[in-house]
Amino acid sequence: MDDFFKTLHFPYEQVRSGQDEFIRRVYKAIEEKRNILISAPTGSGKTISALAPALHLGKKLNKTVICLTSRQTQANQVIKTIHDLAKKSQEKINYIAFIGKRNMCSHEERDLYPATDFLEFCRKTREGGKCSYYKNVRNGDYEEHMKGVINKATESFIDVEGFVKLASRATPEEGVRGYCPYELAARKAYKTDVVICDYNYLFGPGMMETFLGKIGRELHECIVVVDEAHNLPDRIRSSFTYTLSTDLTKLAARELHDTIKGTKYDLYISNLSSILEDLFIQRIEEKKEEHLIPKEEFTENYMKRFVSEIKLKDAVDMLREAEVLIKEDKLVSQVGKVASFLERWNEMDEENFIRILRKEQKNDKTTISLEIKCIDPGAFATDVLNGAHSSILMSGTLSPIEMFRDVLAIKNADLLELESPFSKEQQLTLVQNEVTTQYSKRSPQMYKDIAEQIKKMLFSASEKNALVFFPSYSLMDEVMKYIPLSSLHRKIIKELRNMTKEQKEAFVEQLRNRDPFSAESNVLFAVTSGSFAEGLDLPGDALEMVLVVGLPLAVPDATTNAVIKHYEKKFRKGELYGYVYPAMTKIIQAAGRCIRTEEDKGVVVLMDYRFLFPKYALSFPKHWHLKTSEFPEREIENFFD
Ligand code: SF4
Repeated sequence: MDDFFKTLHFPYEQVRSGQDEFIRRVYKAIEEKRNILISAPTGSGKTISALAPALHLGKKLNKTVICLTSRQTQANQVIKTIHDLAKKSQEKINYIAFIGKRNMCSHEERDLYPATDFLEFCRKTREGGKCSYYKNVRNGDYEEHMKGVINKATESFIDVEGFVKLASRATPEEGVRGYCPYELAARKAYKTDVVICDYNYLFGPGMMETFLGKIGRELHECIVVVDEAHNLPDRIRSSFTYTLSTDLTKLAARELHDTIKGTKYDLYISNLSSILEDLFIQRIEEKKEEHLIPKEEFTENYMKRFVSEIKLKDAVDMLREAEVLIKEDKLVSQVGKVASFLERWNEMDEENFIRILRKEQKNDKTTISLEIKCIDPGAFATDVLNGAHSSILMSGTLSPIEMFRDVLAIKNADLLELESPFSKEQQLTLVQNEVTTQYSKRSPQMYKDIAEQIKKMLFSASEKNALVFFPSYSLMDEVMKYIPLSSLHRKIIKELRNMTKEQKEAFVEQLRNRDPFSAESNVLFAVTSGSFAEGLDLPGDALEMVLVVGLPLAVPDATTNAVIKHYEKKFRKGELYGYVYPAMTKIIQAAGRCIRTEEDKGVVVLMDYRFLFPKYALSFPKHWHLKTSEFPEREIENFFD
């Protein structure tokens, strides 16, 4: 190992293949105040490769490194890496980790509030002087005790959950409750070396300024590291999506009636449901469930119900006034939610947002909703990523890497694509080209054919744990009807809609801890867009075969068409950026569950002839060598033999 790595206190014996270039390029990008996107397959050691140079230069240049992760397991991985670096350098590294505020709250009642209402609960509890955990953090007498708690947590490098428990239970004196973990973490975050947190802290609507205030930094004093950056565009899109439904307008009308009945405020709520319904009826002949709607159309329809001429902003002000009165007795106000929506309806532009009118039918109940939806995440990402000293975005699936640079509007960006550190003999990648999930070809016969192929392939490696991914739950159900599950002689696990975190973890444990003395293996049926397709680490015999059925292409609805149109206008790559590549990112993520370490060996079967079309085939990682076969089951048998 040369002196450069020793200077960075690189903590491991060997620098893996590709890691040398990764670390040097990140170092150079930070030195030159540039940004860098890195596509680095599993096994490249991404966390240490970004953190070692970022931390070294961060200390030298007096910057804070902000590590953004989308999952708690990744946050814990960063803590572990900091531990390794600190051990090697024998230097103290100050760090703190945040997860969502709701998950850090010490109150058991937190679970009663959905994420959207939790902040109101917290604000009201704090401001009403009812949060003793919060008060304790502000009690000067507990200063030394708090320092002790924080030091205990960071010196033992406990994980995020551990910190939340420790802070909540650390009583400063007998009979006194502990501290608010979020507030305690915020104290430690001031000008610290590394802050680990969720994407939301920088990319959530209106959150960045408060967060930077807490950590005592301007954005240009931060080096931003985005882990699993392929998730960032979608995360930003969904953070900037707002809905007004007939359900909400009815709840708001009832709330108004129950609290400040028969007042001047009624007028601003009472007509909303019928306006939404009328707008939909006017389009009924188009026979579609969703329609793009111009901003002005709804605004005019809403305004014309008032006798005197007013502006949408005046209506919002009136509803805010009502909200204040309602909140004298209630924690959360439905009227306030309507006001927030109308405010956004007015403010959000028509270039980066679309407005959708939608009808949904569930159990004989019809709901009409208006949605404001972000279609261009770059409009929000650009200020953050280009405003930081340097931004480092990394993932195993930034493919094609130029798309992520364009879609996130990153300037001064270096691009680095690393080869897989694993040998090509470790993964057999087959294309089963006799089936498809193409919409026009779907039929009971096609479902039967897919089922038959799955069955044959599972038989050919009956002792191997396998994962079978489908593009949707409904298609999974259709195909599974034709698979005689009992004849597979495997434990069957099936992903369900709305599964809890605990249920999912139990499934993963079942795969991970298969009985070494039993020949009976497991098969998990799941969806490509679900949580089993991301971040699932099943090395060795925990997973040796992944079958990917079809392409998870977006439904060509109003949103998809608007995104395609937007990117066509902006980059002349509408279909690729708005339709093809997002589906391929999901496929590569799902198939990537198979090979996790240098010792792994496994088979990936892509089941759809469209995978051979150039626009899809060219998106696969270069180290995948696609092979078509008439008899994939024989290839699988030979591979494992
Ligand atoms: S201040 Fe902390 S402990 Fe109190 S309600 Fe808010 S998040 Fe929960």
